[in-house]
Amino acid sequence: MTYIDPHIHMVSRTTDDYQRMAQAGCVAITEPAFWAGFDRSSPQGFYDYFRQLTESEPQRAAQYGISHYTWLAINPKEAEDPGFAREAMSLIPEFLDKPNVLGIGEIGLNKNSRNELEIFEAHLDLAADRGQLILVHTPHLEDKLKGTRLIIDAIRNNSALDRNRILIDHVEEHTARLVLDGGFWAGMTLYPETKCTPQRAADIVETYGTERLWINSAGDWGPSDPLAVPKARLEMRRRGHRPETIARITFDNPRSFLGQCPKFVLDGC
Ligand SMILES: [Zn+2]
Repeated sequence: MTYIDPHIHMVSRTTDDYQRMAQAGCVAITEPAFWAGFDRSSPQGFYDYFRQLTESEPQRAAQYGISHYTWLAINPKEAEDPGFAREAMSLIPEFLDKPNVLGIGEIGLNKNSRNELEIFEAHLDLAADRGQLILVHTPHLEDKLKGTRLIIDAIRNNSALDRNRILIDHVEEHTARLVLDGGFWAGMTLYPETKCTPQRAADIVETYGTERLWINSAGDWGPSDPLAVPKARLEMRRRGHRPETIARITFDNPRSFLGQCPKFVLDGC
């Protein structure tokens, strides 16, 4: 069975990972722009990163038959200097028409600071102006519930935004209902040991159903597992979920959400 990993940072992964993902049935990934593990020293650093996401990474993925799409943004970890962040953000518009760019992401909050919120709102304006899909990062651990509320309030304050075109990611048991009831799509991120494991993700599916919900690995340069999605599929199968349910979470839902951008096309699927 084929699957989509809609949130993974492949610039941090090896070609062996692409190969293993392709062997496990991955046909498409989407890669949000994020923190490099260190703060970039100039806006030019973002320019080169956006070129990597829109030019070289799609070619690397294509060697393994995987379609590569991307999202552009300045991540919340680098939003503490709003002047710098706005300068880097000014580079985004020239990349938005590239064939693999689906929208603005991952944006959101990390420590729920005033500066992060200001840059988050600036990204929302940019997405609204340019009719872009939006992928939102929510803070981890104890900041998650508060951050998710702040994010939803900021989106509600922008009347130009369509909630059906926004996915709020890294939901857990205590935030999934808030996001889904708000009319948004929700993403569950699987981590190898801490936070949301494949077992907890299967629990969440059993609690909240399959509507407007997807799962992803968010694999990056830290401890993470690029095969987290196929492992969660296995866990769901072990628990007796029907193949249609598993396909809905790991293929049909991402395809429906992402397909709101006409650039997202899956050949032969
Ligand atoms: Zn991410």
